[in-house]
Amino acid sequence: MLYFDWNATAPLRPEAFETMEPWLREHHGNPSSIHAAGRKARVALDEAREAVADLIGASERELVFTAGATEANNLAIQGVAAANPGATFVSTPVEHPSVLEPLAALEEQGRIVWKRFALTSEGAIADTGIGNDAAFVSVMAANNETGRVFPVADIARAAREAGALMHSDLTQAAGRIAVDVHAWGLDLASLSAHKIGGPKGVGAFFVRRGVTLEKVLFGGKQERSRRPGTENVPAIVGFGAAARAALRERESLHARLRELRVRLWTGIRGLGVPVELNTPLDESVPNTLNVSFVGNEGNFLLQRLDMAGLCVSSGAACASGSPEPSPVLLAMGMAEDRVRGAVRFSMGWATTADEVEQVLAVLRKVLLPRS
Ligand code: PMP
Repeated sequence: MLYFDWNATAPLRPEAFETMEPWLREHHGNPSSIHAAGRKARVALDEAREAVADLIGASERELVFTAGATEANNLAIQGVAAANPGATFVSTPVEHPSVLEPLAALEEQGRIVWKRFALTSEGAIADTGIGNDAAFVSVMAANNETGRVFPVADIARAAREAGALMHSDLTQAAGRIAVDVHAWGLDLASLSAHKIGGPKGVGAFFVRRGVTLEKVLFGGKQERSRRPGTENVPAIVGFGAAARAALRERESLHARLRELRVRLWTGIRGLGVPVELNTPLDESVPNTLNVSFVGNEGNFLLQRLDMAGLCVSSGAACASGSPEPSPVLLAMGMAEDRVRGAVRFSMGWATTADEVEQVLAVLRKVLLPRS
């Protein structure tokens, strides 16, 4: 099987598995217990927290573990909304559903006013101006479908001038480009373990020191009371190990993926079928290539690629079998036939040059069956 869908999820890194194993087999302490077993778990949690904090330039005191980026995004949005009734929230129109849906729900309930940045035809933010009425701005560091990198530091500066809190969903950027929450001027940020080779179902929520938020979840005192509930220790230690590996490898991986992506794109263009690049290569994270095979129905093409052994994504949400064109590409003002032909290839640390050649062979077989 050729796995080119790393933006959906990445395989577990061996380092993460090895670090997790004793926490599944032998150690079972609750990090809130004060006896030896509890203290051992607490130390493991603290080490993981330091590793994840290092990946994004945060202090470990600013990081709480969550059940994933979805939960962190919700804690950020709901926490600011509860403290600022009627305030204006600003985001791109292409955030992950775990940002868009809470914003839409709060708007519907009349609890916030929601403004969206307009995008250019290439998916960049057309005008980064933020009105003085904004209380909260959320812009993802990299888009999950196109890989587009947004100028988060510039927008954070504008947010600060407007007196708004700045949040960024770092899920698709961490481990792929250098991320520094303090240098970027972020107040809040979200992260997920399973995109960097950690386990699924664990993530982190960064809250800059000095930022106050309303509580969203109520319970015990775990995770500074921001995310009550017994921590998922095995998953968190796996997250820490993955973060350490991702930070160590980031620069070499970045360079390698850039080369693999150039080869993939050059090969795809060389097929001689109508194809469009959906985000300029130097404006996107190096592991992601989103292209449109114009005239093809993406989901149908996907099935044929799947049958030929290639796992990729159309970038389109599939609701009970009925293909929906990608809202991300539509927000870029793209014509519907181009949106419908979109295929997202995404790679990671285990992707090899040989696999890229195999992908090109599959594409040739599926798109040019008589050649
Ligand atoms: N944000 C982005 C940009 C994502 O790509 C994803 C995962 N698809 C999420 C948030 C949600 O992450 P999780 O699966 O950890 O809830």
